[in-house]
Amino acid sequence: MTTPDGFGRGTGVTGMGRPPLDTGSSTGPGSGLVPGPVPLPAALAHAAGGPRYWLPQQPDQAARAARADPATPPSAPPGGFDVEAVRRDFPQLHRKVNGHPLVWLDNGATTLKPRQVAEAVAEHYSMGTSNVHRGAHTLAKQATQVYEEGREEAAKLLGTQDAGEIVFVRGTTEAVNLVAQSWGRANLGVGDEILVSAAEHHSNLVPWQLIAKERRARIRPIPLLPDGQLDQDAYRDLLGSRTKLVALTHASNVLGTVPPVAEMTALAHRYGAKVLVDGAQAVSHFPVDVTALDADFYAFSGHKIFAPTGIGVLFGKRELLEAMPPWQGGGNMIDSVGFEETSYAPVPHRLEAGTGHIGGVAGLRAALRYLAGLNRPAATAYEEQLTAYATGALATVPGLRLIGDAPGKIGVLTFLLAGTDPMALAGALDQQGIAVRAGHHCAQPALAAFGLQSAVRASLALYNTVQDIDALVSAIQGVQATSAG
Ligand code: PLP
Repeated sequence: MTTPDGFGRGTGVTGMGRPPLDTGSSTGPGSGLVPGPVPLPAALAHAAGGPRYWLPQQPDQAARAARADPATPPSAPPGGFDVEAVRRDFPQLHRKVNGHPLVWLDNGATTLKPRQVAEAVAEHYSMGTSNVHRGAHTLAKQATQVYEEGREEAAKLLGTQDAGEIVFVRGTTEAVNLVAQSWGRANLGVGDEILVSAAEHHSNLVPWQLIAKERRARIRPIPLLPDGQLDQDAYRDLLGSRTKLVALTHASNVLGTVPPVAEMTALAHRYGAKVLVDGAQAVSHFPVDVTALDADFYAFSGHKIFAPTGIGVLFGKRELLEAMPPWQGGGNMIDSVGFEETSYAPVPHRLEAGTGHIGGVAGLRAALRYLAGLNRPAATAYEEQLTAYATGALATVPGLRLIGDAPGKIGVLTFLLAGTDPMALAGALDQQGIAVRAGHHCAQPALAAFGLQSAVRASLALYNTVQDIDALVSAIQGVQATSAG
C-alpha cells in the first residue's frame, strides 16, 4: 500500500514518529532537483540540520514503494528502519581516514561488516575450531551445526525451502565457474548459444567464454539501451532453439540496472534454456526469491552482503544439481572410493570438494541473521530514497555525467566529471575520507556500450546517509574549484 505522497506505509520509512522535514535549500534552475516542498522521508532526514537537496519526484515512485511495501512481515520491528542504530553496529563507520570521518561509498566492491559478524568469526577461531561432518566429537558436531545452519540461512535468504540446493563456494566468480565447468561441459555442444547481457561483470562472462571455446559454443550479447536497461526486443530476437543458457545480472555493478529477471527467465524457459542469475549486487539491496524468479542457478558473494570474504553461495534447482557431474574431486564429496570405482555424495556435498570455509560460513550465518533481524522492506525503501536523493544531488554538479538511469536501479552511481581523470578524482576524494572506486569495474563491455573505459563509482548500502551524499557532492565541488582555480 502506498500513501498519497507515494512513499510506502507500514515500511516504517514514513512511520518513524517524526514529521517530514520542510527545511533544506531549494536548488537553482536546471539543477534537476525539486525546489518546492516535496517532503523527504523521515528516515533520510534524521540528522540535525537536514539535507541540502530535495528529493526529486520519481515518476515510478509509487511502483517502487509498492515493490518495497506489501511484503512487510508481521514481525517487522516497530519503527521500520533505523539507520543510526544500524550504523552503530559497523565499527568501521566510526573511524577516520586521512583526518576525516570515513564515508564508505565502495559497497559495490565490498560491504563493511557489522560487529556481530566479526564476533562470530572470532568465536569460531577462538572457541569453535573444528572440521565439519564425520566428526564424533563435540566440537565437530558444533562446527557442523554452525555450517549447516549457515546453509539454511542462505536458503531462507534466497527463498528456497531446500537447503540441499545451496552449494558453498568462494564467491560469485567460483559459482559461475562451477556451473560453466560442470553443467556447461555436460550440456553445451557445437553451435549452442549462451546469451550474456552486456551489463555483466566479467565473472559472468569470462567463465562462459572459456567453456564456449572448449565446447565450440557461441556467446551472444544482449545489448543495452541508452539508459542502461537490457534491450528486451533484442533479447526476444536472440532467443532460439540453439539457446542453452542465459547469464543475467540481477543488479548491474556499474549501471545499477535491475533487469526484469522473472520475465526474462520465463521467456528463456520457453526455449528450454537455463538461466543463471548473478545476484552479487542484488542480495544486499532487496529481498530475493529464487522460486518466484524461477531461476535455475543464482549466485552471490558473502563479502558483498556484510559477511567475510572467501565464502559465497550457488543456488541450483535440485534436479539440475543432481544431474551435474562433480567439477572438483577430493574429500567431502564422495560416498565410497576404490581404485576401480568411486561413488559420490548427494548434493550439495558432491559439489563441495575439500574442507570448506567454515569460519566464513560462521560469519555468513551471522550476517544473514543480522539482515533477517532488520525490517528489510523498510531498508530497501530507505535505500531507494537515498539513491534518488544521491542522483538528484549529483545532478547539481556542473559537468558531471551519470551513467545509467534505468528505472528502479539500485544505489550504484557511476559518473564522469568533465576535465577530471576518474582515478585522480577518486584519489582526491580519498583525501577527504571518501572511499569510491574508479576504473573499469570489471565490466568493460558495459562501459564500452557508453563509449567509456573508466569511470568513478559511488555505491550505496543501507548504512549510508544523506550526510554521506552531501560530503561526496561537496568534495567533488571542491575538486572542481581547485582544478578551475
Ligand atoms: N558479479 C557482480 C555483479 C559483481 O559486482 C562482482 C564483484 O564485484 C562479482 C560478480 C564477482 O564477485 P566475487 O569477486 O566476490 O566473486
